[in-house]
Amino acid sequence: MSDSKVAIVTGASRGIGFSVAEALAKAGYHLAICGTREETVNAAAEKLSIHKVEVLPRVVNVADGEAVQAFVQEVAKHFGRLDVLVNNAGITRDGLSMRMKGEDWQAVIDTNLSSVFYASQAVLKPMMRAKAGRIINISSVVASMGNPGQINYCASKGGIDAMTRSLAREVGSRNITVNAIAPGFIGTDMTDELGDDAKDALIAQVPLGRLGSPEDIAATVLFLSGESGGYITGQVLHVNGGMYM
Ligand code: NAP
Repeated sequence: MSDSKVAIVTGASRGIGFSVAEALAKAGYHLAICGTREETVNAAAEKLSIHKVEVLPRVVNVADGEAVQAFVQEVAKHFGRLDVLVNNAGITRDGLSMRMKGEDWQAVIDTNLSSVFYASQAVLKPMMRAKAGRIINISSVVASMGNPGQINYCASKGGIDAMTRSLAREVGSRNITVNAIAPGFIGTDMTDELGDDAKDALIAQVPLGRLGSPEDIAATVLFLSGESGGYITGQVLHVNGGMYM
């Protein structure tokens, strides 16, 4: 069994997931990361290995329950322990409700919401056995605020918040905490899809006057992962520069 703690971060090939994995690597966690493309997930693992931790990169579609279960089982067997799960992988398929295609609704629900159930269910066995664990779900500020053109995305993130509270109540007695982090607008590929005008309009809503960085979210994950987060469970922590309060 590994002496160092072990964390799984889904969707860690870039963006917030990569920064989260990097913060955990710097803190000495061994890692298992996944994404949808071998090249980018392997490249991310190589960068993370600089921090002298072991990194297991895998191509896993988090919307595929069986694939997620096999991934978690492999990680638990490989390292002999599993301390932290960060459910980060997510997509957008935006469109106004009247015109949204069924496939765009379903893809977002499967990738953002069902994935969190699959991965959380899979880690419960090793975490319950160890009587310790941290599950951290990456939600979004729009779960609380709503956002026109994102009915699928908002529903998926609202589902995550509700799932977080429910699972936290189920597993608290086993010393497993379950929390969500709700980022505001963070500078990543996801927000780069917006034009400059749209970005300026977003920044105008943020009292701190800037987009958040992936590192802002990574720091919150690190806080919840360690001893410092030990008495926090069932919460949605908003990290949004004050755009929603
Ligand atoms: P991003 O830059 O688009 O990166 C998304 C990551 O998820 C990539 O590593 C991607 O892997 C992976 N991914 C996507 N679909 C996947 C699937 N089916 N299976 C496995 N991995 C998958 O996104 P981000 O901005 O970092 O967002 C990360 C999380 O934060 C998401 O849950 C997002 O909803 C949430 N969030 C973001 C913001 C923001 O402003 N950026 C705000 C609030 C919440 P590939 O590289 O292989 O595609």
